[in-house]
Amino acid sequence: MLRLIRPLTLMLTVLGLVAVVGVSAAAAQEAPAEATAPEFEGTLPTAGGMVLIASSTQTTPQALVQALVEGGCDVEVLATTRGGSFQLYAPNAPSFANAAFVASFEPGSLALVRCARPEILDEHLLQLVTKDEALPADFVPDALTLLPDDLVIPGGGAQYLTEETTDALTRLIEAASAAGHEIAVRSAYRSYQEQVFTHDHWVSTLGTEEADRRSARPGHSEHQLGTVVDVTIGSVGWQLEPALGDTPEGRWLKQNAWRFGFVESYPEGEEATTGYRYEPWHLRYIGETHADWMQQTGLTLTEYLTRIDAAAR
Ligand SMILES: [Zn+2]
Repeated sequence: MLRLIRPLTLMLTVLGLVAVVGVSAAAAQEAPAEATAPEFEGTLPTAGGMVLIASSTQTTPQALVQALVEGGCDVEVLATTRGGSFQLYAPNAPSFANAAFVASFEPGSLALVRCARPEILDEHLLQLVTKDEALPADFVPDALTLLPDDLVIPGGGAQYLTEETTDALTRLIEAASAAGHEIAVRSAYRSYQEQVFTHDHWVSTLGTEEADRRSARPGHSEHQLGTVVDVTIGSVGWQLEPALGDTPEGRWLKQNAWRFGFVESYPEGEEATTGYRYEPWHLRYIGETHADWMQQTGLTLTEYLTRIDAAAR
């Protein structure tokens, strides 16, 4: 459903493309020769209440935002691109009532806005979970569903994810299969208690320092969110090995996982910002809109969610 053309510089050269992209609905239309305000079609965004807006060089983002407002959305701006770079705004400022700010939108820029209706926000989809930011020990995600056996490695046992993540993962694995790649889940949701056992195992095997590079302490694991999977392939023995990243399947995942809303939490060469060694197998679902936006910004997930978190406070 995405009509965004990548990369951004390419998109800016394409005149007449107007895309309003929501997580649950998308409306794309060709801009007429004479500039008129586009209509927002479809339902309002649901995942995180976020919507990504892209404009052509002929149509400014504020016209599209105005259409969202008329669609019943109380719009709050989180970030825009400006001169090709990513610019984030402080919470609640500036607002769309600020005429000077609206006028400052550059044609061809992108805007990330939030439809500020708390009842539709999924706060955990974009929850920052790091070595410093923990989930409560009693946090259990809603709507955990059992993964079908054919998505799980041989002997992988019962694995659970949230319903939305399961649906997206099913589409991802089906697309991989259609491209000739067999990818399966080794590990998915882990409760706080299971993380206690997992981390203790690594500490007893490798010592505390190395264990902390590979395994989160209880409460600090993204796996507790129910939106994270560790995937692997037969040619690495269904293990979780950095070598996965250099296999045809690993390369396919790097090129395509974001299209289904999944991103690497711990990319190669980013241990200084993420706190963890390279884990090409560890994919977190943040929805297609955010995965796409993250690609545009070039930020790591940790950096991206830190900024979203700061903007939303
Ligand atoms: Zn993992």
